[in-house]
Formats: sequence, structure tokens, C-alpha cells
Amino acid sequence: MNELTEIYQSMGISPAVYNYGEKTLELIHDRFDTIDRIAEYNQAKVLRAMQKNRVSAACFAATTGYGYDDMGRDNLEKVYADVFHTEAALVRPQITCGTHALTVALSANLLPGDELLSPVGAPYDTLQEVIGIRPSPCSLAEYGVSYRQVDLLPDGAFDYEGIRHAINGKTKLVTIQRSKGYATRPTFSVKQIGELIAFCKSIKPDVICMVDNCYGEFVETIEPSDVGADMVVGSLIKNPGGGLAPIGGYICGTQFCVDRCAYRLSAPGLGQEVGANLGLMPALYQGFFLSPTVVAGAEKGAIFAANLYEPLGYRCVPGAKEIRHDIIQAVELGSEAAMIAFCKGIQAAAPVDSYADPIPGDMPGYDSQVIMAAGAFVQGSTMELSADGPIREPYAVYFQGGLTWAHAKLGILMSLQKMVDAGLIQL
Ligand SMILES: *Cc1c(COP(=O)(O)O)cnc(C)c1O
Repeated sequence: MNELTEIYQSMGISPAVYNYGEKTLELIHDRFDTIDRIAEYNQAKVLRAMQKNRVSAACFAATTGYGYDDMGRDNLEKVYADVFHTEAALVRPQITCGTHALTVALSANLLPGDELLSPVGAPYDTLQEVIGIRPSPCSLAEYGVSYRQVDLLPDGAFDYEGIRHAINGKTKLVTIQRSKGYATRPTFSVKQIGELIAFCKSIKPDVICMVDNCYGEFVETIEPSDVGADMVVGSLIKNPGGGLAPIGGYICGTQFCVDRCAYRLSAPGLGQEVGANLGLMPALYQGFFLSPTVVAGAEKGAIFAANLYEPLGYRCVPGAKEIRHDIIQAVELGSEAAMIAFCKGIQAAAPVDSYADPIPGDMPGYDSQVIMAAGAFVQGSTMELSADGPIREPYAVYFQGGLTWAHAKLGILMSLQKMVDAGLIQL
């Protein structure tokens, strides 16, 4: 494989870094087999849903204007509902991002006087303004929805006693974030989420359980909707868009909840009937079709990164040997300089904007400066190889994505190279 080392070297990856990577790979190949089996299962699940719903070329036609009788759009929603095993689904390019999808799901199902409970600690940064934890115009708090939070126990487990006490007569909706977001807590398995939902419903049977499924789709063979979630919510520029969806979000769940989401997204009375697809259907269908294998490649990259960095003394969440439940790999680098070097490497390995130089900056929705490395075909897509993180203790970068395993590998090697070049690591 001289050619391989040559091309890597021509791109700036030294033999020392390359060889360290190869040694790491020898240790993790059997885990890749498990990932491939899960991808195979999920590929079949998506295919079966597409066949059942008779996906055809007619589904790819563009619609404009109101989008009445948009067959491609309606059928895509049936495909999503079948894959997630839910009664209904709302899958729309009009949902601009994951935060928007979650906002629609929350504001559609919470009314003034209701209370929202997060039994898994603080939600993702952008959700804090949505809820009103950090005051913001148009937050749920402004509309009279109160919020309660139960933190995880120090070992990352659910605080069942605390949750029991927090659920009260006003508790209407429980929000459970599957992935760690910008926190170094564990990501939950679908099974754990099922146990938490069962516990909440044992205390209050009619409470709505919503799961923020961002970055979790297709990592396991089941989804939170298979274990009792009333709504699962996510972004199409993460896992289920397969890297091809240029925009969009989804909400899958009970007919009751999804109907309300549709009325909130468009207008009462209009609901799911309006919303032209603007020619995006081919990307949304094909991206969903590719998603299981794209997720598998990203997961391999995450495992590779953990196994590369952990032996060098950096804490990784999840740990190098741990089973994964999402595609995010946090690496605690301990300093701003190391975060910058790591991100430079990811950027330098990108197919788009590889010459750009990532620097920390302010971002709407985040309360500290954030550094982001991404050279993506879809701007801001974190299904593509990317790394980001808020500049604050413990100076962790959150690494994710990679449309192909080979690209993820190259990017991670490049991140290590930049750390070596900056004198932060000696191999
Ligand atoms: C990315 C993410 C969101 C928000 O999605 P955006 O598309 O960035 O708005 C919400 N929750 C979690 C856990 C996420 O990872």
C-alpha cells in the first residue's frame, strides 16, 4: 500500500501519524463488523418502508405555491412513519433545523399553565432560549409555560427519586435528549430511554414524552418511538438526511401530537395540507435511503477518533471501548490552542473550503464562543465531517459525521497531525 502512504504524505500526513492510525485500526476492526450489521438491518428497514409505500419517480416531482395534494411529500411522511413505527410524521423543508423542529413540537403541545420537564439535565444550548431558561423573546416561558429540570446523578444515571418529585399536576410534556449535545454526559441507549419513559408514564400516564433524537437515528436497530416515545424529533442535516437533504426537520409520533405540530408549523386549520416541496424530494428520499450507511461510516470515524486520542491521555466521551449510542465523539483537549489545532485538521481535510482557517466566534443561540470546522457540501451540515465546541472548560471538541468512513479517517488523522505540528502531542 505504498500508494496510500504516498498520497497521505502528499496531503501533509506524516508516516508517524499514519502508522499510529494503522495500529489503532487493528484494535477496532471487530467493532466495525457490528456497525455494518446494524447498518444492514436499518437499510432493509428503510427499503421495506419505501417499497411498501410504492415510492416512484412521481414522488420526486417539484411542487410550488400552496403545495396541496403534494404526493411526494405526503408519501415521504408515510415512509418516515413506517420506519419510526409511528402513526404519523411531519417531514418538511419548511422546518429549518433541529431547533426549529423541537420548537414546533414543544410549542404545539404545551399550552399556558402547562409545565415542561427535562429529567436528563440541561437541554441542548439552543433549546435553552426556546424554553426560556435564558430569557428570550417568544420563549415558552413568555407564553406561560413553566419548566423544571432534574439533573442526572453524578454517575450519569437517571435520578428517579428526583423525577418522581418533579412530576406534578401541571407536567404536560417530558423532553428527553438522547445525545449528549455540548455536555460530556453519556448519550442514552434507546433501551435506557424506554425505561425512563415507562417510569414517567407510571407516575403520570397521560404525560407526553418527546425525544430529541438528533444524532441518534440509525445508530441502533430501534428508535425511541419503539419504546414508548410519543414524539421523536430531529434534523435532516444530521443523520436522516444522509448528507443529501439540504434543509429540513422531522417529527414522528402519535397522530394527535403530529397533527398539533402541523397546525403550529403552518396554521390552525391548514396543518399538513400545505407546504410545497420546492423540488427537494429527490434529496430527501435518497438521503433517507443512504442514511443507515452514512451513519455507519460516521460511527466508525467516531470510534477511530476515541481510540486514537484516548491512549494519548485525552478523555473521550464515550470512552474508546464503550458502546456508542450516537455519532458524536467528544474529546476533551484541555486548552483553546488544542481545540483550534484539532479543528484546523478537520477543516484541512474537507472537500469544500479546505483552505479556510477556523477561529472561535460568537454564534446565535450559544452563550460562549464556539469554534467550528466544517467544509461541507450542505452548509452547516454536521452529517458531514465536522468538529465544533464551545470555548469553555473542559475545552472539549465534539467531532461528528463524515459521509464516508475513508473521509472520516483522513480527517481524524489530519487533526492529529495538526496537534503534532503545533507541538501539543508527541508520537
Ligand atoms: C444539533 C442538535 C440540536 C439542534 O439542531 P440544529 O439543527 O442545530 O438546530 C438539538 N439537540 C441536539 C441534541 C442536537 O445535537
